[in-house]
Amino acid sequence: MPKFRPIPIRFNEKIDKSGDCWLWIGACNKDGYGQLLVDRKPKSAHRIAWELENGTIPDGMSVCHKCDTRNCVRPDHLFIGTHGDNIRDCYRKKRHPCVKGEYNADRNPSAVLTWDQVREIRCNNTDSHSSLGRRYGVSHQTIRAVRLGMTWKEDSNKFPDHMLDDIQFMEHKMDIS
Ligand SMILES: [Zn+2]
Repeated sequence: MPKFRPIPIRFNEKIDKSGDCWLWIGACNKDGYGQLLVDRKPKSAHRIAWELENGTIPDGMSVCHKCDTRNCVRPDHLFIGTHGDNIRDCYRKKRHPCVKGEYNADRNPSAVLTWDQVREIRCNNTDSHSSLGRRYGVSHQTIRAVRLGMTWKEDSNKFPDHMLDDIQFMEHKMDIS
């Protein structure tokens, strides 16, 4: 059996530190996050970066980016947060060249919302469906569908399951009438 080289060495070989963000130049997943094989399974490069600097990530916590660059692995651009933080973080993200495909729903002439509004709605986990509906001039059902990813699907990837869980959990706490 070939012995795997230590993770910090394999990790550091795949980083471009020439800019402010330290960009992962190895493989990325479909969401644009860097990946490294650890025990033959892909593991997120930014999670490895955080762990190499700070130790094990506490159960159930997410590693988020301050810099909005999904394949950045610079430890001081990362912070640990709950999945709720991660939702806000994810939807604030700029598109990264690692992520294939373009958003296309802005081209739908019957769309009432825009992608910018959809992302604002998805970043918001405090207001109720109905109060956001009033703000954007749509029904609370429309807001709910946006939040659950039933409409305005991010077309380069499937709506991540952990976000769906989080949004459903959030709904319990909000008035949805
Ligand atoms: Zn960065």
